[in-house]
Amino acid sequence: MEDVLLLAPVELDGALPKGALEALSAARVLAAGGPVQVALLGASVGPAVQALAGLGVAKVLVAEDPALADGRYASDAAAATALAKASGAAVVVAPASSRTSRVAAGVAERIGGRIDTHVAQVSADGGAAVARWYYKQRIEAKLRRKERPWVLLVDPGVAPAARAEGGAAPPVERVAVSIPPPRTEVTGLRAPASGEQTIRPEARLLFVAGAGWTKKQADGKPHPERAEGLIRGFLRASGASLGSSKSLVDQAGEGQKVFAFMSHLNQVGQTGATPRHPKGLATCCHGEEPHVVGWRFIRERRAVNLDPACGWARGKADVLYVADAFAVMERMNALLEAKKGG
Ligand SMILES: Cc1cc2nc3c(=O)[nH]c(=O)nc-3n(C[C@H](O)[C@H](O)[C@H](O)COP(=O)(O)OP(=O)(O)OC[C@H]3O[C@@H](n4cnc5c(N)ncnc54)[C@H](O)[C@@H]3O)c2cc1C
Repeated sequence: MEDVLLLAPVELDGALPKGALEALSAARVLAAGGPVQVALLGASVGPAVQALAGLGVAKVLVAEDPALADGRYASDAAAATALAKASGAAVVVAPASSRTSRVAAGVAERIGGRIDTHVAQVSADGGAAVARWYYKQRIEAKLRRKERPWVLLVDPGVAPAARAEGGAAPPVERVAVSIPPPRTEVTGLRAPASGEQTIRPEARLLFVAGAGWTKKQADGKPHPERAEGLIRGFLRASGASLGSSKSLVDQAGEGQKVFAFMSHLNQVGQTGATPRHPKGLATCCHGEEPHVVGWRFIRERRAVNLDPACGWARGKADVLYVADAFAVMERMNALLEAKKGG
C-alpha cells in the first residue's frame, strides 16, 4: 500500500482535464487501497475541486495564484514542489501534458525523488510497478524503484477516466507557494496551422489516407482534387479522425500535391503517432510495417487497396477490400449523406 498523490494543473477555466481523471484511476491502482490525495494548481481551481466529489479522494491540496494560470517553468515547478512536499506522498502521479512534462523532472529533483515518464501501464502486484516502451515501441519494460518519492508521468489513454460514485466534495487544504517573479510573459496560444481540425482523439474511427490518393489512376492521371473532396467529405460526414502515411505528408517537401488540411501531426507509424481508436480504415495506403506499427492500439482494422498483395493482406488487417478507394469512398459518402437526409 502506497501513499499516492495525483498532481495536476487545471484548465484555464478552472476545470479538471480529462487526463487528470485518467491519471487518478492510475493513482488508485498504485495506492492499492491506500489513501489518494489530489494536488491542483492554477489561477482558480474551484470547478476542478467540485469535479472530484464522490471520487474517493482523501484530501485536495490547492495552490491557487493568478501567476499559475499559464504554464511557466519557474512558477509551475515552485507550486508543484510545494504541493508534493505538503502531501508527504511516496508516489506522485501526474497526467502527461506539455505543461507537466516541462517541470516534472525538476520537481522530482527538488523533492529528492526519481522520475519515470511515458508510463503506459501501472500495477500494484507485489508493490508499485509501471510499464513503458523503449526504442520506438519495440521493447516494453516493467519498472519498480526502491527510491521514494517516485514521480510518474502517465500518458493519455492509459487508464479509463475515474467516474464519480456519488458523495461529498473532499476536504481542501491550501498550500502557500512562494512564486518567483516571472521572467516569461505568456502572450497567447497558437495551434498548428490547419484549415480544418482533423485530429479527433475521441473519434470511434481512425481514417488513414495514404500516398495512393495522389498517384496516377487507371486513366493514367492523378486526381488529387477529387481525392481531397472525397476525404474531406467523409471526415465531415463520419466525424472520423484523420491519419496519414509518411509518404503522403512528406510530399510537401517534394513539391507534389499536398492536402492543405493535413500535416505531419497526422502521420501514424514508427516515426509518427500511435493513436487509440476502436476502429481503423486505411485507404490507398500500402500497409508497410513502419506505418502499421502505429496501429498498435486500433482494435478493428480494415483497408481498401487495389493491390491484393499489399501489407494489409499479410495479417495486418482484419478485412482487406481489394477495390478502388475512389469508388468505395464515393459510395460510402453517398450512403452517409442518404442516412443524414433520411
Ligand atoms: C525509419 C523509417 C520510419 C518510417 N516511419 C513511418 C511512419 O511513421 N509512418 C508511415 O506511414 N511510414 C513510415 N515509413 C515509410 C513506410 O515504410 C512507407 O514508405 C510508407 O508508409 C508508404 O506510404 P503509403 O503506403 O501511403 O504509400 P505507397 O507505398 O506509395 O502506397 C500507396 C498504395 O496506394 C494504393 N493505391 C493507389 N491507388 C489506389 C486506389 N485508387 N484505390 C486503392 N488503393 C490504391 C497502392 O496499391 C499502394 O499500395 C518509415 C520508413 C522508414 C525507413
